Amino acid sequence: MNYSFLKTWHDSHKVDALYGRYITINKIQPLLDNLPSLFKVALLGYSVENRPIDKVTFGSGAIQVLGWSQMHGNESTTTKALFDLFKYIDDYKETEFVSTLLAMCTFTFVPMLNPDGAEAYTRINANKVDLNRDAQDLSQPESLILKELYTNIKPDYCLNLHGQRTIFGVGKPAKSAIISFLSPSQDELRTVTQSRKIGMHLIADMNEMLQEFIPGCVGRYDDGFNINCVGDTLQQNNIPTVLFEAGHFPGDYDREESRTLIFLSLIRIFESVTMLKMHKNLSSNSYFSIPENQKCFFDYIIRSIKLPQLGTTDVAIQFEESLINGILNFIPKINQIGDLKGFTGHVEYDFKDLDLLNADQISWEIGAIIEEIQTNKELPTTFSLKRNNLL
Ligand SMILES: [Zn+2]
Repeated sequence: MNYSFLKTWHDSHKVDALYGRYITINKIQPLLDNLPSLFKVALLGYSVENRPIDKVTFGSGAIQVLGWSQMHGNESTTTKALFDLFKYIDDYKETEFVSTLLAMCTFTFVPMLNPDGAEAYTRINANKVDLNRDAQDLSQPESLILKELYTNIKPDYCLNLHGQRTIFGVGKPAKSAIISFLSPSQDELRTVTQSRKIGMHLIADMNEMLQEFIPGCVGRYDDGFNINCVGDTLQQNNIPTVLFEAGHFPGDYDREESRTLIFLSLIRIFESVTMLKMHKNLSSNSYFSIPENQKCFFDYIIRSIKLPQLGTTDVAIQFEESLINGILNFIPKINQIGDLKGFTGHVEYDFKDLDLLNADQISWEIGAIIEEIQTNKELPTTFSLKRNNLL
């Protein structure tokens, strides 16, 4: 597969109807209703607030691949990538690559497992339960729907599709963790079992492809065992499961760049799945060479700012994503004040030679909104704190 070509295709053919971060059932329903006949759409059940949860099935092969997106309602990037995938599969169904995929695999995707959380733009469902901590209790209708689905399908591979905050970085000096992965543990000792190893192999393949586009920006999630997480539970049933985390491409708060990279990763993992039988000995080394995700980023860091009372210090600003009258707003708030040497800002600016003109209009404390900073010299346009009214 030529991934540069695939990226070019994606840039000009992705599904226009989905854009930005606030993706709800009302946005995907018309797309589900109009999918070509290659795709079978079926209702699995309803959420707490009675919104439909659908699955999309395609292909007729023996290898069962199951994936779900927006289990956390405000993690919509992978949902956008799934609809782009459906479009690609249909456009290219006559090609050798796609027809082989469809002959070898049966794909089942739940594009929005938590439609109530999606509507409210929250991680949790309408009963305030984190569905990715409910794999054992199965206290929520959405959890039962997923459990019933994987019990019926008996998947050979599971794709657990998520999005991560802007706070994650990888490497030294740290770069943004634009995409992160995990092959979850299946016991407290984090044993590298055969099932985990398969997940690691698939992740290593995707990482190798992604390095061409985002060198040094792929992270590996902490593999601490938690049986309440769906991935850990599936892995314990010896079903290789891969956690995808769509992260922050610097400057792109709409997450359109990581959408493209998730789309490419999906194609790459399918390619790997169909070729897995050719590998006799799977190695976990390439997987463990991916740097671990660290919480080391802020949206903005202002260095050496001279504040009233506090003196010269650093200030970190983080956007709070807040849904106001159906529109997603990014509200800049002070997250840390102090020495931030070990941290990186997606945007940074050193104020050591600047004088702050509106210091008295801002309350310099954690949680305070900071809309504008006026100084005696003009700040670069990249330093604008206005990110409101994203879609
Ligand atoms: Zn998540």
